[in-house]
Amino acid sequence: MTTSAELFVQACRHIPGGVNSPVRAFKGMDRPPVFIERAQGAYLHDVEGKRYVDYVGSWGPMITGHADPDVLGAVRDRLEMGLSFGTPTAIETRMAELICEIMPSIDMVRMTNSGTEATMSAIRLARGYTGRDKIVKFEGNYHGHSDSLLVKAGSGALTHGVPSSPGVPASLAEHTVTLPFNDIDAVEACFEEIGDEVACIIVEPVAGNMNCIPPQEGFLETLRQVCDRHSSLLIFDEVMTGFRVAKGGAQAYFGVTPDLTCLGKIVGGGMPVGAFGGKREVMEQLSPLGPVYQAGTLAGNPLAMAAGIALLTKIQEPGFHDALSQRVETLCDGLQARADAAGIEMITQRAGGMFGLFFTAQSRVDNFAQATACDAEAFRRFFALMLDEGIYLAPSAYEAGFMSNAHTPEDIQATLDGAERAFAAMNA
Ligand code: PLP
Repeated sequence: MTTSAELFVQACRHIPGGVNSPVRAFKGMDRPPVFIERAQGAYLHDVEGKRYVDYVGSWGPMITGHADPDVLGAVRDRLEMGLSFGTPTAIETRMAELICEIMPSIDMVRMTNSGTEATMSAIRLARGYTGRDKIVKFEGNYHGHSDSLLVKAGSGALTHGVPSSPGVPASLAEHTVTLPFNDIDAVEACFEEIGDEVACIIVEPVAGNMNCIPPQEGFLETLRQVCDRHSSLLIFDEVMTGFRVAKGGAQAYFGVTPDLTCLGKIVGGGMPVGAFGGKREVMEQLSPLGPVYQAGTLAGNPLAMAAGIALLTKIQEPGFHDALSQRVETLCDGLQARADAAGIEMITQRAGGMFGLFFTAQSRVDNFAQATACDAEAFRRFFALMLDEGIYLAPSAYEAGFMSNAHTPEDIQATLDGAERAFAAMNA
């Protein structure tokens, strides 16, 4: 048997860092990543034959569990018809109709191959539609790895953004303003000063890339107001929250309507898919109707559409999201009770089908500064102990956890039992 550690050594020879996306490398977790062979329902099975209860769900898509028979069946049915045609297909229209029905803020939608492409294209569309260059984003929000969005705050509230990666030109980053998440005053002050130059605000309505941070009351509403006041577009990046915090995403959950929405993850049912859509008059600016260019050789791929449609159909079953949220609540309450009993300073935050654990004495975490002030070493220890217990959490203190409706009460109980032992070991 080849172990995960051996496979990682082999992988590192020809793949940078041994992975095709950085967080998979378990960097900072002091151990090599687990190589997964197959997955079913709530479980991952590694190459060494160990089973894990999975709270990553392929970073979000697997909301009904891994290898969902309905999703696999839909892909299988489609497979023999051919993989890709580079022509319009009826299944793309079915997907577009389904998205527009589930998210009423979307009149028209364009499919992409990833969440990154969706946000990148939505930003270009917002700039093209408004004729403005500046965009506003929030510290600790992640919108994929396109140049305009790999930008962090400069020093001082309203300075130009600076690249957060080598290779991003400073001259491009300076068009991105980065503000603290959940800071209504910073948003108001920014728009007071440069509002008429801002093409769009892009926001994760529940921040899921700095652990799990829901918006404070009034935050999303303020974004809507300043955009209306200054004719800027409001873009919700619902790549993570879409179809997860509620059927209609964060916009349905919080009752705030964006101009454009970016989707990914669940919309592809586990296949490489993204999408962006919104108001008709904005979307009509896209090529071939309008002048804003955007394209994709494999965009709207029929197999990917089949998988996505099957999954979106399942999550529309009555009570699906209530049951999912209930599971998350049971997990979070149970973890909290066990941490409290062990005297471990930890809190949980959640929204619908996503959650986060923060090792902190604070009673809540609302922004990037507070998230990064949490005890990363305590998380690292907890993560490692839970992995030994057969519980697979995201290998980073800054990633949200994801629940599926394949997680049974027994899986949750096993997780809580494992956590109880992990907390005890942390105290030893
Ligand atoms: N936006 C958000 C909120 C995300 O969480 C992610 C990825 O995790 C992306 C965009 C980028 O999506 P992708 O990794 O499919 O490019």
